Amino acid sequence: MHDCLVIGGGIVGLSTAMALQRRGATVVVLEKEAEVATHQTGHNSGVIHAGLYYAPGSLKARLCRAGERATKEFAAAHDIPFRAVGKLVVATNDVEVSRLAGLRERAGENGIHVEPVSAARLRELEPNVAGREALLVPATAVVDYRQIARAMADDVRAAGGQIVTRAAVTAIREDEDGVQVRADGRTLRAGRVVACAGLQADRLARAAGLDVDFRIVPFRGEYYELPPERAGIVRHLIYPVPDPDLPFLGVHLSPTIDGRTTVGPNAVLGLAREGYRRSEASLTDVLDYAAFPGMWKLARRNLRTGAVEVASSLSRRGYLARCQRYCPSLRLSDLRPHPTGIRAQAVLRDGTLVHDFLLRETPRQLHVANAPSPAATSALPIGEMIADRVFGPL
Ligand SMILES: Cc1cc2nc3c(=O)[nH]c(=O)nc-3n(C[C@H](O)[C@H](O)[C@H](O)COP(=O)(O)OP(=O)(O)OC[C@H]3O[C@@H](n4cnc5c(N)ncnc54)[C@H](O)[C@@H]3O)c2cc1C
Repeated sequence: MHDCLVIGGGIVGLSTAMALQRRGATVVVLEKEAEVATHQTGHNSGVIHAGLYYAPGSLKARLCRAGERATKEFAAAHDIPFRAVGKLVVATNDVEVSRLAGLRERAGENGIHVEPVSAARLRELEPNVAGREALLVPATAVVDYRQIARAMADDVRAAGGQIVTRAAVTAIREDEDGVQVRADGRTLRAGRVVACAGLQADRLARAAGLDVDFRIVPFRGEYYELPPERAGIVRHLIYPVPDPDLPFLGVHLSPTIDGRTTVGPNAVLGLAREGYRRSEASLTDVLDYAAFPGMWKLARRNLRTGAVEVASSLSRRGYLARCQRYCPSLRLSDLRPHPTGIRAQAVLRDGTLVHDFLLRETPRQLHVANAPSPAATSALPIGEMIADRVFGPL
């Protein structure tokens, strides 16, 4: 019998496996795909967030701040390139200027170093960006999370753990002495199970018999990429001021660690949890959220925002208009195709989008119910927190 089975070979499952091993546990990671980091971990913006946005005292605020440092240290120790390009959050109208002031205050409460930037200074820093004011976050960096996850998988194996791919978990049964798990025709037994299943988190929790009070709703994050000769149009990450009611940060310009510049992502309700092409739809996935009362409450509250997101998904011109608000020199011909990512976002019965990381526990299981952005940045401290809960502090 193993000490612990970890379900999910994304960055959260892998960092959790490492943290469990540091506590002396024997660990097996079960991943349904052929490789680790196939879903959210391998389809994101590659930003190491500093942590300015999150509600003070929340898990996100604490773990993102710790994760920013831990991710950079992990990358440096494993020869994985990262670059602290810094981020500029740009306000373009009165509402955004006042929200930016709120963000600056929040950064202070979260202990994040930020620098106010005037319109004139913004022009010096970024000649292609226009705004009334901005906030510079120097610590924000870029990295390739797929590389981080692969290095974590290597570390898990080096410490004696197993990573079993093509092992989709279909059933979980807990009894007094342990937990039994069915994965692709085989049965495994362990003292504990930690599920870090991202887009499938609610289904695994249900399979394990938990009373599931949330639903995972897929939000597509569609990107474009600038042509190579335009990739140097910005030097920093350029973000709009986000809507404080939504957990999404807005369509931004991101220099990537491999020298490209991506534009995006938007946040459009998806028709399939793991269908990356726009034409892909899954009846099961759609029925799953359509039958959930919280989804309709959420939709009614966010009709206007949803319409803007859909418009920017269906029309490249609509997408461009969103970015031209802060980068007027962008042209339609600058928007080249780039792979889409799909966010796993937990929604509650009352229609609340869960902003913070969310865990659900039984005596022998821990399920990560909500680990959206910045969970890639925060994965190392999330792993430590989970291991503390499952096996006690180091
Ligand atoms: C478009 C987009 C942009 C983002 N940008 C950023 C960013 O810049 N910075 C940041 O910090 N975060 C960002 N995020 C968030 C970040 O990518 C995620 O929070 C993080 O990757 C979550 O990791 P995870 O391990 O929980 O999930 P995942 O990476 O999705 O891993 C879950 C794994 O579980 C496996 N699994 C599911 N069901 C089963 C089963 N039944 N049996 C076995 N295995 C199973 C899946 O195959 C998958 O590999 C972004 C996310 C998206 C989608």
